[in-house]
Formats: sequence, C-alpha cells, structure tokens
Amino acid sequence: MSALATEHKAVNLGQGFPDFPMSAALIELVADAMRNGFNQYSPMPGWMPLREAIAEKIEFLYNTTVNPDTEITITPGGTYAIYTALTTVLQPGDEVIVFEPGYDSYIPNIVVNGAIPVRIDLQFPEYKINWAEVRQKITPKTKVIMLNSPHNPTGAVLSGDDIQQLRELVQNTNIIIVSDEVYEHIVFDNVKHQSILRYPDLAQRSFVCFSFGKVYHCTGWKLGYAIAPAGFTKEFRKVHQFNCFSCHTPSQVALATFLKNRESYLSLGAFLQQKRDYFLSLMKNTRFTMLDSKGSYFICAQYNRISDESDKDFAIRITREFGVAVIPVSAFYQDATDNKVVRFCFGKKEETLALAAERLARI
Ligand code: PMP
Ligand code: GLN
Repeated sequence: MSALATEHKAVNLGQGFPDFPMSAALIELVADAMRNGFNQYSPMPGWMPLREAIAEKIEFLYNTTVNPDTEITITPGGTYAIYTALTTVLQPGDEVIVFEPGYDSYIPNIVVNGAIPVRIDLQFPEYKINWAEVRQKITPKTKVIMLNSPHNPTGAVLSGDDIQQLRELVQNTNIIIVSDEVYEHIVFDNVKHQSILRYPDLAQRSFVCFSFGKVYHCTGWKLGYAIAPAGFTKEFRKVHQFNCFSCHTPSQVALATFLKNRESYLSLGAFLQQKRDYFLSLMKNTRFTMLDSKGSYFICAQYNRISDESDKDFAIRITREFGVAVIPVSAFYQDATDNKVVRFCFGKKEETLALAAERLARI
C-alpha cells in the first residue's frame, strides 16, 4: 500500500510510521556518540548502560526487577525479537496459538520453524479474545501463546480480566508466552497497560518484546529488546549470536541517556490520544463507521455504508481515486477474512490527518 500511495501521491494513513520529526535532542545524542568514537561492535547482548536504563524503566513502570545482565537482550527491532523468541523455543510439530487479525510476521515466523499456527479469530467488532475458544484449542502440543497488546491492527488492549483468564489457563502447563508489547506506552483514557511483566507467574514463562522505533518515532532505526527469564535469555542469545550478533552501537549509547528522562515515554499516550480524538472528530464528516481504538496508533473503520467491495479492492480504489492509502484488515488474516474493515494509522501530523479526512469525506 505504501508503494501504491507513492505512485498516486496519496496521503499515507496505511503503514504504521509517524510523519513528524523525532526528537532533535536524541539525534544529537547519537551524533555525539558517533563523534565520541562509539562506532564499533557493542557486546552481543547489548550496550550495558542501555540494558540498565531499561531495567530501571521496567522497575518504575511495572514494579518488577529484571536483571540487565541475564534477562535483557537488545535486538534490531521488535519484529526480530519476536522471531528470535519463537525460533528459540519452537520445534517442528509444536502448536502456537495466534490471534487474528494479527501483525503479519507472526505466522511466517511460526511456519519457518516447522511449527503449526493454531489461529483464533478475535471477536468482531471489539476484537476481544474468546478465552473459552482458547481453552478448547489447547492440546498437549501447544508450546506458545502469542499475545499483542496494544494490538496492531485494531487498537484493542488486554484487560485485567484477560490476564486473569490467561493465568488460569496456563497454570500447571509448560506453555510459553511471547508477548508483543511494542505499543506499551500508547494506551488511552487512563487505562493502564497490562504488561506481562507485572505478573511474576506469567513473566517466568514469557518472552516480552519491545521496540524503540515505536516509542521515539524512529521506526527506521530498527532497535528493540526482549525480556525473558535468565534460562530463556541464555537460549535466545544462542540464536541471536549467530544471526545479527549485535546492534547499532551509537543509537544504543544515545538511548541509554535519553531513556532516563521518564517524560520521554510517559508523554506518548496523551500525545497520541489527542491525535486519535482529533482524527475521530474529523471522521464524523465521512460515511465510515469508526471502531474503538484503546491503544497503539491504529484505528479501524467499517465502510459498509459506502461500498460492498472487498476490503482490498476498496483500499486500492480509494488510494487511486481519492488519494488516501489505508490497509485492508483482511491482510492481517491468513485466509483473508473480510469484515469490510480498513485500518488507519493516526500517528501523523494534524495537517496530514486533516487532508486525509477531507478527501475521505468525498467518498
Ligand atoms: N509488533 C507490532 C504489532 C508492530 O506493529 C511492529 C511495528 N511494525 C513491531 C512489532 C515491530 O517493530 P520493529 O521491528 O520495527 O521494531
Ligand atoms: N507496524 C507497521 C504496520 O503494521 C509497519 C510494519 C511493516 O510495514 N511491516 O503498518
């Protein structure tokens, strides 16, 4: 969709990336790190002061202690952290519970390891997990449950009740959780992010994956991290050592300093909530039916008052004819389930959102 957006000079509300500048101070810190000679390989698990700053942040946010030496590994992005976690634990024939719609890398990551994705639909239109169905789909081969909150593409978030159901489900099993929490700071309406790290019984069986690209508006940096108990982390690093081995050093040096400023991440939720609300107010002038977004920088909408085309045809047509690119949500299902829903990314400048909404009002 991004290629099509460029071809048709469309406003790109499709791919999830901000179109506003990142922090100039953070850029300066990277430049300083480069000038100061931090240009060689960093240690395989990551730059220690950055891992220490992450441990401090986790303690402050989630009231739990993680050991920066044995439980945190810096990775080239969140996607890589998820791939590495799955590759660390999966054997051919293992089953992985995975929810749809879902971020598009999960199922290929499962399949490439010879494991079997066991797909469960989130309940439309709230996109909630049906825990009774999860219970039914668990077998002796279930190795992993994949979670993602706040959720891409829907903006759904896990509640305390979801966590309670999960705890009951996995107790007395060997099921491992891979939790994608790259949007951890982007939660709206004073709801708190239900990180798996808050729950020691869950954290001791989990890999929790994060991305700096999503926090500091620098998706092109491709830097993230995985947190897992020492035993898991030791195995995770065996995969990492012979794949990427180590990550970009100057940005790790810079982030080690920048992360200490709590406001740098605490402000993110309110900043994006304001964009969500602005976009929602603009979209009142269109015939889209907006669904709920409780977190992330995505919001979905039904277009059944406009057209009965497939979501893919609709997305392509409005990019071409009306100059706004969106993502058809069927792209996030293996079998292209089509609920006539498209995803918008509202992590954009106000003028971008206004221009897009003005064009969408003409449809
Ligand atoms: N998970 C989800 C749900 C995402 O939306 C993204 C962003 N593309 C990622 C993981 C990973 O981000 P990155 O690899 O760019 O750090
Ligand atoms: N997370 C972003 C999205 O879902 C970008 C990732 C990608 O384009 N693969 O749009």
